[in-house]
Amino acid sequence: MEKFNLEIITPEKIFYKGEVESIHIPALGGSCTIMAGHQPMVFATEPGEMQITVNGVTREAFMSEGFIEVRPDETIAFSEAVEWPEDIDAHRAEEAKERAEEQLRRNRSAAEYRLNRLALQRAFARLQVKNHNNMNNF
Ligand code: ATP
Repeated sequence: MEKFNLEIITPEKIFYKGEVESIHIPALGGSCTIMAGHQPMVFATEPGEMQITVNGVTREAFMSEGFIEVRPDETIAFSEAVEWPEDIDAHRAEEAKERAEEQLRRNRSAAEYRLNRLALQRAFARLQVKNHNNMNNF
């Protein structure tokens, strides 16, 4: 299968850099898969599950809010946070989930509601990726 260059960057590190066959992203409004030859465009992402396929092996990771630029020469993803399952602290995600749920139970401003919804979405997605935890390695 044809490959393309992918770079995934967070504020803290380069999470991934290399050739891949595809990346499945949690795009706003619906997840989608990018393969070699995809037309250039920019996607916004929301917290969810991301999958990268290299040499027929697919690995899953958590991906947070950000955006992805698909260019003819390479695809670059910028995200607030990206984590492999083994790096996700499930206890911390459970606590974040409870905090967000507690905040959502209180009636707050639209802006606070949106922030708490996103925090809840991050926690859910982290727990989901942690639970899937396939042991594939590239
Ligand atoms: P919390 O309230 O626990 O900080 P959050 O969703 O607000 O959760 P983020 O803003 O998404 O956290 O991430 C801040 C930093 O903490 C990032 O570096 C991210 O990788 C890390 N992080 C957050 N939650 C977890 C977790 N459950 N396991 C591992 N790393 C985490």
